[in-house]
Amino acid sequence: MRSIKESFTTEAINIKTYPLSDYDNIVVMFSREYGLIKGIAKGVKRPKSKLGARMQMLVANKIMLKNGRNFDTICEAQALNTFNKLRSNLDKLTYSMYLTEIISAICTDCDEDNENNEKIYELFYCALEGISNSLNKTEIFLNAIKFQLKFMAAAGYGIELEKCLECGCEINENAYFSIAKGGVICKNCRRGSDIYIGIHKKIIEFLITQKNCPSGEKTCYDGLVDENFCEKCFLLLKKYIDTYASRPSRALCVLNEMK
Ligand SMILES: [Zn+2]
Repeated sequence: MRSIKESFTTEAINIKTYPLSDYDNIVVMFSREYGLIKGIAKGVKRPKSKLGARMQMLVANKIMLKNGRNFDTICEAQALNTFNKLRSNLDKLTYSMYLTEIISAICTDCDEDNENNEKIYELFYCALEGISNSLNKTEIFLNAIKFQLKFMAAAGYGIELEKCLECGCEINENAYFSIAKGGVICKNCRRGSDIYIGIHKKIIEFLITQKNCPSGEKTCYDGLVDENFCEKCFLLLKKYIDTYASRPSRALCVLNEMK
């Protein structure tokens, strides 16, 4: 248990920072062992800070934290991956920020008993690396879609794509997607009063393949689909995820305003 030790070490990716005082910041991180954690980066705004750039958003570090009464203090940080190619491209940065927003909206603080923390950490790390190395917007979307599907499953809100959520029949044809329920509904179970979005069987097949594809690997679809198709799939999943997130994505709002 982390609470009885004076200090502890973990791997963590910075997802948000905010000022605490003139020189200190609070850094919110997603850690491999403990899920979402916060720590004080003391003196990080001083020119000669030893933590410095490692405390920027979207950097993965091995960190040592010292337990404190209100907040733990980050004593040491050793950069594992700075995902450098994210920082020179607005789309890459925006979709990476979107991932941090859904993690902070859906995961709970210091959920150290959650056996899926490690899985979520790996998914997040792989998604950032994938987005960082993407050659075009389609590849960025493919990485974001894989993350949406796998993260929601790991967080306990998996999206049902294979069987009708109402009757359990296998879906082999065009069907409907229920934003409220997070999955597919067959044409026989469609009720007039509910809000469903028609979903083509090719999209269902594509999403199942993305969901089952190991992180960091490519699927048979990756070279065939275009940006427009991927954006539609991304937005469909985003609508479902938004039902769990308390605030709409700021990152994507900023991007839309700049268009
Ligand atoms: Zn049905």
